[in-house]
Amino acid sequence: MNVAARYAALRAEIPESVTIVGVAKGQPVARVREAVSAGLGEIGENYVQEARAAFAALPPVRRHFIGHVQRNKARAIVELFDVVQSVDRLEAGLALAEAARRTGKLLPVLVQLNISPGERFGCRPEEAERLAERLRSEASLRVEGVMAIGPPSASRGEIEAAFEIAAKTFARIGGSTLSLGMSGDWREAVRAGSTMVRIGTMLFGERGQ
Ligand SMILES: *Cc1c(COP(=O)(O)O)cnc(C)c1O
Repeated sequence: MNVAARYAALRAEIPESVTIVGVAKGQPVARVREAVSAGLGEIGENYVQEARAAFAALPPVRRHFIGHVQRNKARAIVELFDVVQSVDRLEAGLALAEAARRTGKLLPVLVQLNISPGERFGCRPEEAERLAERLRSEASLRVEGVMAIGPPSASRGEIEAAFEIAAKTFARIGGSTLSLGMSGDWREAVRAGSTMVRIGTMLFGERGQ
């Protein structure tokens, strides 16, 4: 199957109310362009350098930063992206807030939760509400909800338990967006209430080829 056919198949299977973000990290731009031509309107990138090159070669799409936010990259992230899904600590959020203020932007952000023992980043679910509240006092940010990465190679039961924590935390924080689910676990994510799935390999194929 080519990328356009994979996009059509995914779009047919994933409920209409759930946004598909195509995760472009490690993918040839030609594949990403093919998906955009087929109707994909949202692209996720983990790396600033790669995003700069990829976005220059794409028609306008909504651009999501889903990588680790380093404070010294805040300015570049704010200039390149429309949404930052991966705010997992106050310093990162404040650096983005300042960069957004300076560029005159109102930046939509999600609080990234850690719901998986193997995951390096993400704030603890118990601390997420406080972080969201603090970020909501920044006039240049708009906290729209929560993002989380499910536990890799876990049992279905473990994935469901982790996603339930994400959904409950999202309910407490409020907003429009629960960004949950990737190629291997989007079905569980949609069942848990995800409003946005982030799909890389299942849409574009294996990375780095
Ligand atoms: C790589 C990545 C994805 C996509 O992963 P696939 O398994 O290829 O679908 C989604 N979200 C984040 C944060 C990622 O880093």
